Amino acid sequence: MMSLCWTKGGQARQYGTMSLLFALFAIFGWQPALATAIEAVDVTPDRITVQFDDYVENASAFVLDNPYRIAIDVTGARAGTGSGQAGPIRAVRQGQYDPQTARLVLDLARPAIFGNGSFSADGRSFTLDIRPASHIQFASAATAGRASFLPPMAFRARPPRGRGELTVRLPRATPPGQTSLPTIQGPRGRPLVVIDAGHGGHDPGSISPFGNRHEKDATLAIARATRDALLASGRVRVALTRDDDRFLVLRERYQIARRLGAELFISIHADSAPNTDANGATIYTLSEVASDRETAQLARRENSADIINGVNLGGADSEVRSILIDLTRRETMNISARFASLLRREAGDTVPFRADYHRSADFGVLTAPDLPSVLFESGYLTNAADARRLFSRDGQRAIASGLADAIETHFARRTASTD
Ligand code: ZN
Repeated sequence: MMSLCWTKGGQARQYGTMSLLFALFAIFGWQPALATAIEAVDVTPDRITVQFDDYVENASAFVLDNPYRIAIDVTGARAGTGSGQAGPIRAVRQGQYDPQTARLVLDLARPAIFGNGSFSADGRSFTLDIRPASHIQFASAATAGRASFLPPMAFRARPPRGRGELTVRLPRATPPGQTSLPTIQGPRGRPLVVIDAGHGGHDPGSISPFGNRHEKDATLAIARATRDALLASGRVRVALTRDDDRFLVLRERYQIARRLGAELFISIHADSAPNTDANGATIYTLSEVASDRETAQLARRENSADIINGVNLGGADSEVRSILIDLTRRETMNISARFASLLRREAGDTVPFRADYHRSADFGVLTAPDLPSVLFESGYLTNAADARRLFSRDGQRAIASGLADAIETHFARRTASTD
C-alpha cells in the first residue's frame, strides 16, 4: 500500500546526498584526467561531426523530448570546444557528464532524430546523421533508448586504470550510520537488480481482511521467489534490501540499491482499497511533473552550495550542471517506463493487471536520477482472488516468474543495444 509507505520522510537528506554526488561528478569532471578532448564540432543540416584530438572508447546517442533534444555521450573524452547550428540543430552544448564521459546536447528547433552513427577510419571523429521527423516519430525515438557506436578496434581507447575510482568514492558520500549492505548473489559480471520487499518489522503495510495477513509477508515472499527464479537461470545478479522481517526506512532501501551499484530497482508492494472489487497489479514510475520539480530542487540546492567537502565549486556553469542532471533523469524515466510495459507483457499471462496498469506518481523511492526504478503493486489484499494469489506459494511464484522474465529481458535488450 502506498499511502502508508511512500511518505516523504527522509527526502531532504536524499537530496543532500544526491547534491553531493553530482558535485563529485562535477569536481572530477573539471580535472583534466583524460588525455583526449573534443577538439571541434561541425554541424550541417543533416549531420553532426565531433572531432577528437586522440582516441576515445565509444560514443552513444539518445533522444529526449520536451524540449526536443539529441544527446551524444563520448566515453573516454573530456568536453572541449566547438558548437554550431544548421537545419534543425539550433545549438550544441558540451559538458562533462562524469570523469570519463563528455556529453553534447543538441538543442533542436523542430523534431529531428538520428540515424546512422560512425567513426572515421582513424577513430578521430564521430559522425551522427540527423534527419527531420514527425512528432510521432520523435516520441517513438525518445522511448527507444540509447544507440552505441564503437571506433575501429585499432583506434579505440582502452578504459583507463582506476576507472572504478568514482564508483568507489560515491558510497562514501552517503551519510554514516547506514545499515550494512546485503549480499549480492549470482554470477560475476552480470547486471545487478535490487529487489525491495516493501514494509517489514513494526510496519506491516496493509492488512488483508482475508485471514488478517500482512502485506510485509507477501512482499518478502515475492521478493525471495523472484530472487530464486533469477538465480536459477543465472543471467543477472540479485540483492534483496531485506531478507527477513526487518524495518527499513525509505531512504535506506533506495540507498542500498545505489551503494551496491544496481542497474535496476524494483520495490514490491500490495495495494488495498475500500472497494473489494478493486483488483489487479499496477506499476508506478516517477512522474515527469515530480521529476521536473526535483530536478529544479537538486540544481538549486547544488548551486547554493558553492563549497562542498572543502572543494570550491564556484565558477561552474550552473545551467550546464542542471542540464546534465535533467538529461540523466529523463533517460532514467524512459528506461523505467519501458521496463513497466515489459513487465506488463511478461507477467500478464499469469498476473492480472489493472487496465491503467502504468501510472506515475511522486514517490520518494523513485527519485534516483540515474537508477531506473519501478514500484510494483502486485495486487489488492482487499480482493479475495488477489489475496489468494498474494498469500499462496503458487501465486507468489507466478508473480515472481513474471518479474524474473521481465528483468532478464530488460537486461538482454540493453546488452544487445550497447555494443
Ligand atoms: Zn506498501
